[in-house]
Amino acid sequence: MRLVLIGPPGAGKGTQAAILSERLGIPHVSTGDLFREHVTRRTPLGQDAERYLDAGELVPDHVTGGMVRQRLAEPDARRGFLLDGFPRTVPQARELAAILDSAGVALDAVVEFTAPEDVVVKRLLNRGRQDDHEDVIRHRQRVYEHRTAPLLDHYADILLTVEAVGPIEEIAARALKGLPEAARGPARHARPAP
Ligand code: AMP
Repeated sequence: MRLVLIGPPGAGKGTQAAILSERLGIPHVSTGDLFREHVTRRTPLGQDAERYLDAGELVPDHVTGGMVRQRLAEPDARRGFLLDGFPRTVPQARELAAILDSAGVALDAVVEFTAPEDVVVKRLLNRGRQDDHEDVIRHRQRVYEHRTAPLLDHYADILLTVEAVGPIEEIAARALKGLPEAARGPARHARPAP
């Protein structure tokens, strides 16, 4: 299965991605984690990316796209993957489509996790990552609204929306229950009511 997870920072994408990746037996590919690894290892890419991460800005698309293309070419991602944090812009979605087209495959579903802003901001303040200061957190929410939320329309045909409030296991169960249907695509809207 080839999945993309979308949701505002703090919606619990990373936590859900870890559970879903284990249950579905596909690798969890998080661009945020990949960037943080590069920053820690002080690679040239990490040195370029660090100031964007610290400011809560998006790393430029050409840097991000190249990193994802390379990661998805690794053997474990050939059978499927769960992308967490990519794409985050419409141009990145086009880049992903090009990567998948050249491999002759397609996305099965896009899972959107939703939660009210006060809930996600509170979660992030408790998490305490290097970029989890209140002003940077609020900025990341605005970046999500302006640059990432338009992807929900872009992926309307294969979108599964999951309310990400409540116990972690229940949220994962909601996603797993909805996935096969979402992966069947737009036909689900066309089916008459029973
Ligand atoms: P995350 O771990 O998904 O919250 O991402 C942390 C930070 O990594 C973001 O605030 C961005 O600076 C950067 N980042 C992660 N994914 C992307 C992406 N797809 N495009 C651009 N920047 C990204």
